[in-house]
Amino acid sequence: MHINLLEAMNEQGHEQIVHFSDSGSALKCIVAIHSTVLGPAIGGLRMWPYAAEDDALRDVLKGSRAMTYKAALAGLNLGGGKAVLIGNPESDKSEALLRAVGRFVGSLGNRFIVAEDVGTTVDDMDCIREETDRVLGVHPAHGGSGDPSPFTALGTLHGIRACLEHRFGHEDLGRASYAVQGVGGVGYHLVQLLRAAGAKVFVADINQERVEQVVDETRTEAVPMHQIYDVDATVFAPCAMGGVINEDTVPRLRCQIVAGGANNQLESNECATQLEARGILYAPDYAINAGGLMNLAVELEGYSEERARHRVAAIGPIMRRIFERAARDAIPSWQAADRLAEERIQSIGRIRRA
Ligand code: NAD
Repeated sequence: MHINLLEAMNEQGHEQIVHFSDSGSALKCIVAIHSTVLGPAIGGLRMWPYAAEDDALRDVLKGSRAMTYKAALAGLNLGGGKAVLIGNPESDKSEALLRAVGRFVGSLGNRFIVAEDVGTTVDDMDCIREETDRVLGVHPAHGGSGDPSPFTALGTLHGIRACLEHRFGHEDLGRASYAVQGVGGVGYHLVQLLRAAGAKVFVADINQERVEQVVDETRTEAVPMHQIYDVDATVFAPCAMGGVINEDTVPRLRCQIVAGGANNQLESNECATQLEARGILYAPDYAINAGGLMNLAVELEGYSEERARHRVAAIGPIMRRIFERAARDAIPSWQAADRLAEERIQSIGRIRRA
């Protein structure tokens, strides 16, 4: 269905959508700025061969709004944005294209800061940096923060501790067991941290070679990919793709907590409500996986790993506040997270406007 853009912006609260085109480099790019109430909108640059322009628009509208909530709940002075580049990252990327992105991002002044996403790399951010300093996630040699996945995993670990405390009254990672879905960047680092705490860990991945490497290195137990939901472990940690908490999987899960680093874990909010009806605690994905974003934001003040680790530790208290609010208002945890994010935007926005 065709998108009525201004109506969609109005409904979802977007401030600005900008279309950029450069015929020389064949650039077709859309930047969405959902909110700058807390600060410049930060957003990943996704390069994808969208079949239709409306698909790109839908992605950029949804992603920018999600980023507003994520940055707000993470306690950052940043708003939410997103950029999409229509094209195939394997065949359509060029220096001219990326520098055109940089020039256009720079033209937005301090309203937008771009970072890496699906289809773009650290090298691409370095290229964009030739044209603008409104870019994060550049190479460490340029003051960048490097691979975010160890920080996303560390933040997830802090979040899991808060979940254990809420559910069982202790924070001892080693007393629980874990089923980790996906052992790429985030999942692998999470498994390492859990094993260092002495925990029993089960792993599954679509990539069998990767599973074997991780099992060998970390002394974990492999589970066939489709059986990871059925594992009798305390925590199910989705660290692969989205939509894994759905009508098929909710009744199968034998865990007591769902807490992992993947984005968009819920097929729908209703699935989280069903989880909670089954007595399973759900750690809202955008709260528990904010460690990578927190690490990236440290670049704005001059990167330091020590400060990044300190900031990421805030995910524990953030998760506790979510669970307290959910209990106080008798609402599901996903809704408590949304309310806390919205309240911070309103209260800090009032101060910034004063
Ligand atoms: P990655 O590509 O490094 O790892 C993903 C892993 O999942 C791969 O090993 C892949 O083989 C595996 N996988 C794919 N489909 C699978 C399936 N059906 N079943 C089991 N395994 C499957 O990605 P990543 O950077 O580790 O990100 C993982 C998730 O975390 C994604 O949802 C991502 O959006 C989210 N996330 C990542 C970061 C970060 O810092 N990298 C930050 C926030 C959120």
